[in-house]
Amino acid sequence: MVSKAVKSVSPSATISLLVKENELKAQGRNVISFSLGEPDFPAPEKVIEYACKEMFDGKTHYTPSSGIPELREKIAEKYKKENNVNVNARNIIVTPTKFALYISYLTLLDQSDEILIPDPGWVSYVEMAHLVRAKPVYYKLNEGNGFQINEEEMKNKINKKTKAILINTPSNPTGSILDIDSLKILRDLAVDNDLYIISDEIYEKLIFEGKHISIASLDGMLERTITVNGFSKSHAMTGLRAGYLIANQELIKYMDNVQQHTLTCSSTFSQYAALKALDDNEDTLKMVTEFKMRRDLIYSGLSKINVFSAIKPNATFYIFPKFNYNGKNSMEMANFLLENLNISVVPGIAFGPSGENHLRFSFSTSRENIIEGLERLQKLI
Ligand code: PLP
Repeated sequence: MVSKAVKSVSPSATISLLVKENELKAQGRNVISFSLGEPDFPAPEKVIEYACKEMFDGKTHYTPSSGIPELREKIAEKYKKENNVNVNARNIIVTPTKFALYISYLTLLDQSDEILIPDPGWVSYVEMAHLVRAKPVYYKLNEGNGFQINEEEMKNKINKKTKAILINTPSNPTGSILDIDSLKILRDLAVDNDLYIISDEIYEKLIFEGKHISIASLDGMLERTITVNGFSKSHAMTGLRAGYLIANQELIKYMDNVQQHTLTCSSTFSQYAALKALDDNEDTLKMVTEFKMRRDLIYSGLSKINVFSAIKPNATFYIFPKFNYNGKNSMEMANFLLENLNISVVPGIAFGPSGENHLRFSFSTSRENIIEGLERLQKLI
């Protein structure tokens, strides 16, 4: 009854852990959650107020499928000014970030085409490839070098079926930012092998050190990059489903057809929220300041527990330490922490084979919780 493509999509590796976490909470156990994938801040008040006002003013109908013109123009301006990517409103479709990725896959990949996916990398990249009947192929990030690109590894993975390389910078789960050397390697590979790059830049605003560079700003990359971005992480607006994609106009024509016959358009309310969010750096900066303090706290705390060894993340609200504890794998370790220390984390294996022996801690939780969580983790030694 069910199609092969849909059958081939795995349920999230973390679902059973989440169920258990909720059960324990229901039993009254004081579980500290380091598994949240969204900022623990409210969306900015001015953004909500503005979007509500627009709704009361009658902005409750369909919009053009690619989004309201003023938002598309403002996104293009942002990318020109901040990211050095020379685009205009005609290069933009407003759509939730996850759906932007899905439209990109649908548009670029035929059955059995290959897409290279970072390992470790965010959970949905692989499953979306299954959904469009393409073949996901992992490429290992170089952990010894701060999770940068390894040229030889990439070359070995590219063949005639390869159509695209997906990159995620800053990265979920590692919190690292691809440096200019990595981006140049990717650029050369894309040009030499006639590939597209899909660049997921959703954590772009949550940076503590270093600089985010959009690969589309590199020579020769504008035409062969699809950039996806959104407001979920930068403005704590996950529930509003506000995001966008940027591509060359030829691709946009086809992608807009997909949007027209699936989503129709992004929710009108969220588009006005996004319009206002683009003017609001203040709330993002406040979050970044707090996340940086928490990052320092959790990094120094984990460094003192010899079970873990972590690379200090320069961005996002995730830290992805390796661990070594009584031969446990990451799923067993996550279960152990939940059952014995009332701490919930995401097992590294959820992010690909190289994620094994790692755990993802999200520091999107209060400093008090981080301190208490670290005290509990001290019991491991
Ligand atoms: N890309 C990455 C790397 C993410 O971590 C997420 C969400 O967790 C998304 C894309 C999807 O974002 P959204 O929920 O705004 O569609």
